[in-house]
Amino acid sequence: MTSDKMPTGTTGGTPQVLLAHHLKQLKLPTVLREYEKVARECARDGIDHPRYLLRLIELELIDRERRTVERRIRAARFPAVKSLDTFDFTAIPSLNKMLVLELARSEYILRRENVIALGNSGTGKTHVALALGLAACQKGFTVAFTTAASLVNQLMEARDERRLLKLQRELAAVKLLIVDELGYVPLSATGAELLFEVLSQRYERGSTIITSNLPFEDWTQVLASERLTGALLDRLTHHVSILTMNGDSYRLKQSAGRRSARRAEQNQATVSADPNTGEIPPT
Ligand code: ADP
Ligand code: MG
Repeated sequence: MTSDKMPTGTTGGTPQVLLAHHLKQLKLPTVLREYEKVARECARDGIDHPRYLLRLIELELIDRERRTVERRIRAARFPAVKSLDTFDFTAIPSLNKMLVLELARSEYILRRENVIALGNSGTGKTHVALALGLAACQKGFTVAFTTAASLVNQLMEARDERRLLKLQRELAAVKLLIVDELGYVPLSATGAELLFEVLSQRYERGSTIITSNLPFEDWTQVLASERLTGALLDRLTHHVSILTMNGDSYRLKQSAGRRSARRAEQNQATVSADPNTGEIPPT
């Protein structure tokens, strides 16, 4: 007989087979995976049935929360997963560390406030935005990460394919929208209008993080309209934390560090560098 024709609970088979089937149907994969092992442990330690059940259910809950966070992280489409644990605050003294740590608690998202990170290239703006995005996912908020250029492209494409409203609804629904790199690419008039619409639909309904290499006074160059820029800044900065991230490029500093380390190595090394790459072959 086939179990999918029989009403639940009346199928034949050994209890283990049935249990596996029911637990799958109830979406309790951790209970299924762990029940025998935990039963052995509980029998060994003389733990009663309610506590056995409690242990199993707690395992399922912990696992479920982990799976949900992972799903949120995947849905956010981060280009890389970065956290504040790997961020060196001493490399960027202009950045208010206390403010960043406070933002990592994600409470600004409950207040629907925004964050704007401003500074020259390579100072860790994207890293901090990614870290705040990750923290938000871990705290239970839905997040979407995009760059300004890519967001505008998606919006234009959606408009051409007559699904702009759907995309706008999706973008309005996430609790935290991260728009990286506003300012690298000047936007067309239509692009700027579409971006403005998204940000203005989120105003006081959700949080937005924007990173830009341009100070506010230069945003007109990107949005190509003073009226639009004024209206946008008005909304964005009504409830905002501004992260000032001016300093030396971390990228440049790191590669300079690597170069000087390599030079030191070359001076000491007895092996000769590869003539094609100038690299010292690994020993
Ligand atoms: P930006 O977005 O400001 O141009 P990024 O965040 O992309 O800069 O940083 C460039 C690279 O340097 C990234 O790999 C980032 O992880 C790293 N980085 C930048 N600042 C720091 C920092 N203070 N501590 C650790 N890594 C950093
Ligand atoms: Mg960046």
